[in-house]
Amino acid sequence: MSAEQRQLFDSSPEPWEADDQSRHLVASVVLSAGPAKEFDYLVPDALRETVEIGRRVKIPLGPSNRLVTGYCVRIEDRPVGRRRLKPLHSVLDQRSLLSPAMLRLTRWIADHYLCDWATVLDAVVPAGVRVGAGTRMTTLLSIDREAVERLGELKLTAKQREVLNTLAASEEPMSPGELARAARCTQGPVTALRRKGLIRARTGRIATLRPEESLPAQEKHLVLNPDQEHALRTILDAMNSRRQRTILIHGVTGSGKTEVYIQAIAEVIHFGRQAIVLVPEISLTPQTVERFRRRFSAVAVLHSHLSDAERHWHWQRIAEGSVSVVVGARSAVFAPTPNLGLIVLDEEHETSFKQASAPRYHARDVAQARTEAEGIPLVLGSATPSLESWRRAKAGEFVLVEMPRRVLDRPMPTVGTIDLRAERGRACSRGSISRQLHAAIAAALDEGGQVILLLNRRGFSTHIQCPACGHVVRCPECDIALTHHRKDEIALCHYCDYEVPAPAACPECGFAGIRYSGLGTQRLEAEVHARFPNVLSLRMDTDAMQAHGSHQRALSAFRAGKVRILLGTQMIAKGLDFPNVTLVGVINADTAMHLPDFRAAERTFQLVTQVAGRTGRGPKGGRVLVQTFSPDHPAIRAAVRHDFNAFAAGELPIREMLRYPPFTSMIRLVVRGPVEPVAAGFATYVAERLRASLRRGEVDARVLGPAPCPFARLKGKHRFQIQVQGSDGDRLRAAVVDATADLEPPDDVLWIVDVDPVDML
Ligand code: ADP
Ligand code: ZN
Repeated sequence: MSAEQRQLFDSSPEPWEADDQSRHLVASVVLSAGPAKEFDYLVPDALRETVEIGRRVKIPLGPSNRLVTGYCVRIEDRPVGRRRLKPLHSVLDQRSLLSPAMLRLTRWIADHYLCDWATVLDAVVPAGVRVGAGTRMTTLLSIDREAVERLGELKLTAKQREVLNTLAASEEPMSPGELARAARCTQGPVTALRRKGLIRARTGRIATLRPEESLPAQEKHLVLNPDQEHALRTILDAMNSRRQRTILIHGVTGSGKTEVYIQAIAEVIHFGRQAIVLVPEISLTPQTVERFRRRFSAVAVLHSHLSDAERHWHWQRIAEGSVSVVVGARSAVFAPTPNLGLIVLDEEHETSFKQASAPRYHARDVAQARTEAEGIPLVLGSATPSLESWRRAKAGEFVLVEMPRRVLDRPMPTVGTIDLRAERGRACSRGSISRQLHAAIAAALDEGGQVILLLNRRGFSTHIQCPACGHVVRCPECDIALTHHRKDEIALCHYCDYEVPAPAACPECGFAGIRYSGLGTQRLEAEVHARFPNVLSLRMDTDAMQAHGSHQRALSAFRAGKVRILLGTQMIAKGLDFPNVTLVGVINADTAMHLPDFRAAERTFQLVTQVAGRTGRGPKGGRVLVQTFSPDHPAIRAAVRHDFNAFAAGELPIREMLRYPPFTSMIRLVVRGPVEPVAAGFATYVAERLRASLRRGEVDARVLGPAPCPFARLKGKHRFQIQVQGSDGDRLRAAVVDATADLEPPDDVLWIVDVDPVDML
């Protein structure tokens, strides 16, 4: 009989089996990869000192006592009854990775977004931290305090005293090499002191990364205008109230919001606390980062290009309190700041704050929960607030601060529309740039200005269609029209990167006159070249900006003025501040308008407003020309007048009537599988269970679907969606949990739950 089998059959009491009454220290553990439940283990005496919630532990699991890693999430001294508990095997971390408050936040995320606690824990603690990237095991020396008390009685050489003083002065343990270097001696005296028992040694991890030089802050604060003063006051009042407050700053582009954040953060630092600034990844430009670096000396920037080792290094420095300001994308909301004083979330309407994979959290809502737990203010800023935040501000849940004017009395750019329906018929306006827009570009260039052109579609032609048989060349995996990329002469799927050589004839009927139509940024680039051959232009989209650093190089070329025309996708619509841009052209404002997404109008309004904000930021002023087939659409009309309030006032009643967010909570389930009827059948089954459990719970809700997703086939998988909408989010969640408990999908069928979905495709 193997040891394993013996264990299975052996019924005699194990040495650690407890009797009913005795109390024991019990650790509850959540496994990193494993069943979504907590496991209880006894804490053996040897581990009493080191076990702590938020540290990872190794536990023996199952009959074979396979060692697995998990997070210790609770420690209790309690009677264990007749249950047989195994002891913890060991403690992995030298310090806790999650404070009790962060641990509670992760639990909240798991409950709110309906995902496993372990998935959240693994998202909150970066992989680089978990594996100790960029560190190595070494000997760490520290002073034996008791021994040092006898120092007077000991005979020591001058060098040895020097070594002891050096080590005593260091807050952290040191490696033998570091100590010898710092005390300017050889290893001899160090070794002698270890032998005398005056220095203790243990093994531990140290960073191998050389810390980057942090520059002292150089720049002084600006003198605020009255609107900025008012915004700053509101934040400081909230800080002093020591209660959580969410302040929504609705400020037009260029109204000086960032300056307000900076001065609020200065106050936070003054009180010895830290601040987190969340920005969309796309805004993590050198320009933004520089602004913070010039004002604050201890800034950590968390962007997606960090190596695991760098990420770990920043994390450590943040955790030990050496960083005052953390600037980063979405996941920086989890930065382990020991004494957080403020979270700022800029461009709060941006969809990139929602994570597209599990845990599907929204950084804004996590920031709300985190600031509530810590009793500190949350500042949301945007020129085009999400209707979710807007409604809460209007309802008095958030404090609303309006900054309707640009700084230094700079005017808002004038925005005009160009009706593409009228342009259509004109023989002289071939291509995508209308006569009017062409004239405006020429004039702006003549006057020494720069131009930004926005087109939210990459590639050359957005579809390839045969005029003879009507066949459209599609991705065999995704059923989406392939986009022609001229540089490599390929037809590319923008969802799965499937590519084929661009066909010269129709693959279906062989007709040689296959047509490439639909406009992408590459075609726009060619057109700009042809129209303005002597002007340097530059295209910015994900294809052109693949190399690390290319984004920054492009922006500095534009800033330096060598490049006169910058064209690209929404990448250029966000956050850039170029005073010399006097004209912004929107090539087609309608790209987002007809998507099957209840936020389509909101997205259109946001895009046009944001890109319009890129001009008129300098003394020369600026103007915007918007080409559209629907100049009378409410979103376009409101964007033209910079009138967010009008847009919201028109859009909110529609949402309310149709029972969409922000008037209801929404949960979206997506089922996908390789075989259409199997996936569809399972989706129907899930929807039935969901309807039944909503009925049982008497929840006021509406279930839509199952229906094919707008992108009905992606990467070879058929996709079906179910949408649940209702007034009470918690009760919707409970019904979804109830309906999906023990759900066993057929082979190869996967399902996901997306709470408060942002991506509706
Ligand atoms: P927003 O974040 O609202 O777009 P910024 O804070 O970036 O606005 O301000 C726009 C520009 O105006 C920046 O170049 C900034 O340096 C400048 N600025 C901001 N506040 C002031 C002020 N009080 N006085 C002078 N210039 C200011
Ligand atoms: Zn594809």
